Amino acid sequence: MPDSSTSQELYAKRIPIVPRSIKGPFRNFKTVVLLLGYVVYFGLPWLPWHRLDGAPQAVMFDIPGRRYMLFDLVVHPQEVFWLALLLFIAAVFLFFVTALVGRAFCGYFCFQTLWTDAFIWIEHLIQGERPKRLNLMNRPWSDREKLIKVGLTRLLWLVLSFWTALTFVLYFGYAPDQVWAFFTGQAAGAAYIATLALTITTYMAAGMLREHVCMFICPYGRFQSAMYDPGTLSVHYDKARGEGGNGRAAARAGLRSLDERHAQGHGDCIDCGLCVQVCPVGIDIRQGMQFKCISCGLCIDACNTIMAKMSYPKNLIRYDSETNLALPQPKPELQIKWKNIKVLGYGASVVLMTAYLIYSIATRQSFEHSVQQIRQPLFVTLSDGSIRNRYQIRLTNISGQEETYSIEARGLPVGALDIGSFSRVTIKNGKSVIVQASVKLDPVRARNLEHFEFVIRNSQGESVTDEARFFAK
Ligand code: SF4
Ligand code: SF4
Repeated sequence: MPDSSTSQELYAKRIPIVPRSIKGPFRNFKTVVLLLGYVVYFGLPWLPWHRLDGAPQAVMFDIPGRRYMLFDLVVHPQEVFWLALLLFIAAVFLFFVTALVGRAFCGYFCFQTLWTDAFIWIEHLIQGERPKRLNLMNRPWSDREKLIKVGLTRLLWLVLSFWTALTFVLYFGYAPDQVWAFFTGQAAGAAYIATLALTITTYMAAGMLREHVCMFICPYGRFQSAMYDPGTLSVHYDKARGEGGNGRAAARAGLRSLDERHAQGHGDCIDCGLCVQVCPVGIDIRQGMQFKCISCGLCIDACNTIMAKMSYPKNLIRYDSETNLALPQPKPELQIKWKNIKVLGYGASVVLMTAYLIYSIATRQSFEHSVQQIRQPLFVTLSDGSIRNRYQIRLTNISGQEETYSIEARGLPVGALDIGSFSRVTIKNGKSVIVQASVKLDPVRARNLEHFEFVIRNSQGESVTDEARFFAK
């Protein structure tokens, strides 16, 4: 049974957070990441790319053609392990970043953060700064201004959610055709269902649930503490400096300069509350590290603005580690502790896996093949006493264009290999062909031969050799 405090936390009515906007380097960095992220996400389906055998689109998941086109790289289902490896590398890289600089991914790069930021920007554009938004929020719905401004805000949220959802669908076909088909009612049912589902989830996640997604839905927020240690960088309030011996106090008369404050035992925090007002998850970082904090750095910008106005040293709130803050004189420069087994382990894993992925892509052949011996029966004795074995050769062309292959056998007498009319076979890009081959040997040769080789060549001179066994008993 959960105790009553847990029940309250989980089921209490959500109080909307209305963050104040702030200027500063962390805000600028977040804006740059947001703009870049949006340009990439919304722009990629429209980026043209020259292709010989497909839609001229740089990135496309061609489901009917069973291939994923990423610029000049075409990934077929047989190579799907590359995508699995890429996801694994991304996950380990996330662990690496978390072990090094805490929850930085959440604050700057996560989709939830990027879309919530954009929704807040729309809210700010239509309804104004925090006091105006709070004022509007507290008015009744019968108020005309509230109805118009909140209605317009939500309409723009819906448009952004819809375009986000539709863009996702555009990755699965040629974008101009898809848009035309979508708006003329000719798109596949799955396109409409996916767009509707994603529109609703985007609107709910970035418009309504916001910090609740990070707190209660996203698993990463929960398990990131496993990667965290006292040396990990995170956003901290320097309590010793901020509180002094007698706690924080407003900058009233007699407590304006640092000398006055320190003489009366007060710290550098003037209790203005700006760091709380700008926080997108609604926490007070002065109460210590909290799992809800997404390390976005906006409270650092806020506090530094105040410190500059008061002519106090900056960085009362800053990226720091618990280890450094526990020192009698914390070091002022950024302490990135990378010499520990966790960071080095994650880093080495990322480097090795990335190197393997690049090697695997760079050395892949332009075709795939397999040779399987037909084992039912393993061999057949013909009426003239000769022995016959049968094989199945599968060829898949992944060269990006139509290609012709020749199949030969090495280590067999002339005429022993029979592949019908398939000594040369032409295969379209992305397609597979299965060739049935049989090898017939007289009884003496059959008893003395155990292995021979199939040699498969394409018209570019690329070849593979595959050893095969011959059974006579
Ligand atoms: S406490 Fe600071 S760093 Fe953490 S989420 Fe709030 S504003 Fe961002
Ligand atoms: S912004 Fe800085 S000075 Fe203002 S309340 Fe927060 S920590 Fe104190």
